[in-house]
Amino acid sequence: MAGKQDCAAEQLKHWQEQRGCQKPDALTTGAGIPVADKLNVMTVGPRGPLVVQDVVFTDEMAHFDRERIPERVVHAKGAGAFGYFEVTHDITKYCKAKVFDQIGKRTPIAIRFSTVAGEAGSADTVRDPRGFAMKFYTDEGNWDLVGNNTPIFFVRDAMLFPSFIHSQKRNPQTHLRDPDMMWDFWSLRPESLHQVSFLFSDRGIPDGHRHMNGYGSHTFKLVNASGNAVYCKFHAKTDQGIKNIPVEEATRLASEDPDYGLRDLFNAIANGNYPSWSFYIQVMTFEQAEKFQFNPFDLTKIWPHKDYPLIPVGKLVLNRNPVNYFAEVEQMAFDPSNMPPGIEPSPDKMLQGRLFSYPDTHRHRLGPNYLQIPVNCPYRARVANYQRDGFMCTTDNQGGAPNYYPNSFTGPEDQPNLKEAFARVSGDVQRYNSADEDNVSQVRDFYTKVLNEEERARLCENIAGHLKDAQLFIQKKAVKNFTDVHPDYGACIQALLDKYNAKGGKKDCIHTYTQTSSHLFSKEKANL
Ligand code: NDP
Repeated sequence: MAGKQDCAAEQLKHWQEQRGCQKPDALTTGAGIPVADKLNVMTVGPRGPLVVQDVVFTDEMAHFDRERIPERVVHAKGAGAFGYFEVTHDITKYCKAKVFDQIGKRTPIAIRFSTVAGEAGSADTVRDPRGFAMKFYTDEGNWDLVGNNTPIFFVRDAMLFPSFIHSQKRNPQTHLRDPDMMWDFWSLRPESLHQVSFLFSDRGIPDGHRHMNGYGSHTFKLVNASGNAVYCKFHAKTDQGIKNIPVEEATRLASEDPDYGLRDLFNAIANGNYPSWSFYIQVMTFEQAEKFQFNPFDLTKIWPHKDYPLIPVGKLVLNRNPVNYFAEVEQMAFDPSNMPPGIEPSPDKMLQGRLFSYPDTHRHRLGPNYLQIPVNCPYRARVANYQRDGFMCTTDNQGGAPNYYPNSFTGPEDQPNLKEAFARVSGDVQRYNSADEDNVSQVRDFYTKVLNEEERARLCENIAGHLKDAQLFIQKKAVKNFTDVHPDYGACIQALLDKYNAKGGKKDCIHTYTQTSSHLFSKEKANL
């Protein structure tokens, strides 16, 4: 447990203490009407039945029935907190965004940390990438940097995203997580090798949310006040130091304290032990991008530090816990397409896919007016546009201002001086296959140069300990890919698998399922 006190465990006591001598509020219905009796339903006689006119009961029950909103498809389990971003170094030569315009400037932020594949109630200490989503409430609207705790991802083409996620979540028939699905997908798409190697390394189980780095992961574009652009990557390095949880300890915590990460973050902040991250950029000119040995927009690759050093920018500090989890964390919606002037997308195919997918999912999960929810509302800028109406409009809906453009009645006007940077693109429209764009060189560097001998051994053990549960033909394909990275990598995993398999591990097992549910359905119908 972090800090001095388990404040999370005593939250209700603190709430009561803060109220001091205030008397309890009068209990009301949702409409604010005082409630006389909240313990007994209204019935005909003492033994029932209920009467429809018990609106105190129906008001309560109907709301209860609607408490859950759709869970996020990914990143369902999360913890969030609030604080500020402070500029410590001048990067205005690269970027005109006002969030960076003065050293010492502070911008309010929200960060949500999460696991990826588990459901909202799943354990925090599982092996999984971590979401690291940052929202900057800037003077020019919200900037969402929706990253992870790794600078790379499993796939580089957005078309593969739904299939990749399906393979990591539950089997449609058994409703179980399925090693065959996971390793089948990974072994068929070797571009995942880099991220899989990060995932099964020690950093695959971070110690809570405070001891890991965050990365914008994608390549973005920064534009300065003269309209000159460079490509960029964002890094947030933990000031608490990297700390990971050993496998056995993580397994123990998953059953004894599944909310370990959430609790650790809440208590650290409640105890005034504010976590912080140093914020950096890497910069690549367009000319360098042309000559870069890899596609600089490939999300499965990093930019080497020695060629593209980290440039310090500022500090992210979290110093406030959510006042209410649902209001401020569950409803928090991050959207990579929220970029203030000066920050723009690169052609990264995954980023381009996310520009569509994120706001689309929020409109489904929270409704078309999700940006009016206080935690999502760009409260340091003024929203003025021609969008109106929709479910759950909670503002004045822009009052009597004109709702069409152009108009002759001083409605909001566009700002030509803030046009996006000039971008020249040419090429034939096609579905380009990027499957074989050097999937191994950087993984080899990681395996041979970044990890030491013990870390390599643990990496192989972690992989074999998971891969052993996939069918033999899948194991073979996966080992071939690790061998392509480095013969020792493949050999080490194979040797461990051989031990598991000798002990009567996984056998190839092919069942024939002849009946689909539609088949059963039509058979039932035929019998009727
Ligand atoms: P560097 O030696 O400059 O950087 C190595 C990086 O690896 C550091 O950022 C380090 O993070 C990070 N690292 C250490 N252990 C792990 C781990 N278990 N999982 C993930 N990252 C880890 O080398 P290069 O920049 O030339 O990159 C070499 C290789 O390092 C890459 O191929 C890539 O696999 C990996 N890497 C590179 C990053 C980058 O942005 N350049 C970022 C992360 C990994 P820290 O300094 O915080 O300890």
